[in-house]
Amino acid sequence: MVRRMLRTRNIKKKKVRTPGNKVVVHFEDKKVGIARCAVCKKPLHGVPRVKSSEMRKLPKTKRRPERPYGGNLCSKSMRNLFRKSVTQILKKSNVLNKLGLIYKH
Ligand SMILES: [Zn+2]
Repeated sequence: MVRRMLRTRNIKKKKVRTPGNKVVVHFEDKKVGIARCAVCKKPLHGVPRVKSSEMRKLPKTKRRPERPYGGNLCSKSMRNLFRKSVTQILKKSNVLNKLGLIYKH
């Protein structure tokens, strides 16, 4: 009998012939889900599809892209976020109004 955690049909099994001419069952690792953007849910580039235990062994530079919100947001969503925050700051500080960029109708 195999270990209790392996007694499920969800895990893929593979029959392997050993050097002693025995056929044994090997349990394959479950696939890890793709990392997705928190805003637009698109798959993230530069994030490897490995288990968390394997991820720990990787150097930090290979775990996620090196930019703000790397590994959480895609580059497009990150830029949109920054644009929104900058426009909010400018609106609050009333700089655009002073420069004449916002016209009142
Ligand atoms: Zn996104």
